Amino acid sequence: MAPSTWVIIGASRGIGLEFVRQLLERGDQVIAAVRNVEAAKRIWPLTGNETRPGSCLIDQCDVTDESSIDAFVGRVKSLVDKGMKLDNIVLNAGILRYPNRATELSYSEFAAHLHTNTIGPIIVAQKLLQISASAPPSRVIFISSDSGSTALFREQEDGFGAYAASKAALNQMLRHMAAELKRKGGLWGEVCVLAMHPGEVSTDMATNLGEVEWDISGMIGAEESVSKMLTVIEQKNKKDTGTFWCWDGREYPW
Ligand code: NDP
Repeated sequence: MAPSTWVIIGASRGIGLEFVRQLLERGDQVIAAVRNVEAAKRIWPLTGNETRPGSCLIDQCDVTDESSIDAFVGRVKSLVDKGMKLDNIVLNAGILRYPNRATELSYSEFAAHLHTNTIGPIIVAQKLLQISASAPPSRVIFISSDSGSTALFREQEDGFGAYAASKAALNQMLRHMAAELKRKGGLWGEVCVLAMHPGEVSTDMATNLGEVEWDISGMIGAEESVSKMLTVIEQKNKKDTGTFWCWDGREYPW
């Protein structure tokens, strides 16, 4: 099978870093975007796992900073203009500043969750789609969360108000992105836009919660989460656009 090109946004740690590790190990090509290139110390050793020279490009993108997004997309555009096809784009960057209760949190803390988890990922995806008009990606994958489901509201998740709201808004916007691309038709109609819940994964995000009052059950490692997500993602095509899946293959209600 020919190697695919993946863009991973938010690749310095946790699930994003594990995507890069597994993709390089199997011989794919990765553009790994991190917020701070110097501080992202865990990604540099992965370039040793490249199966071909230059198969991992580490670049800078802060999804809360429009000029950083534009500069990143501009650099990717120069590769696309030379013939690189972006096969899969993974919008993984996210924050969870616990607790973020509706009755307590500040304006700026609410805004930080929305900027990082909703607006940033959508705008990065939009701009990467715009530069790929002649050869759109097969899939655009947003790493969402079960916390963002409105149908299965997780009332027990005390302290997750802004986080859950930011993922619910992400879900709604990505569904519109999927519907708009389908309406445009042509090559755009070939793009599959997905939301993924990665599971409860033992990354910094999940382990920095301190003492939560409720049970976080069924914690899995990043390796299991990503390997199973890759299996699910690769089973999806344009017919599945605008759907929401768990790492283990279950479809999740919006
Ligand atoms: P981590 O906290 O371990 O990693 C978060 C990643 O997002 C880091 O690479 C971080 O970069 C990056 N990031 C944060 N803010 C920005 C920004 N402004 N611009 C670019 N990158 C940024 O979390 P996880 O790996 O666990 O989470 C990855 C995704 O999975 C998130 O979207 C999260 O909401 C989702 N998720 C995670 C679950 C879990 O149980 N872990 C459950 C459900 C969903 P930096 O190192 O610079 O901070």
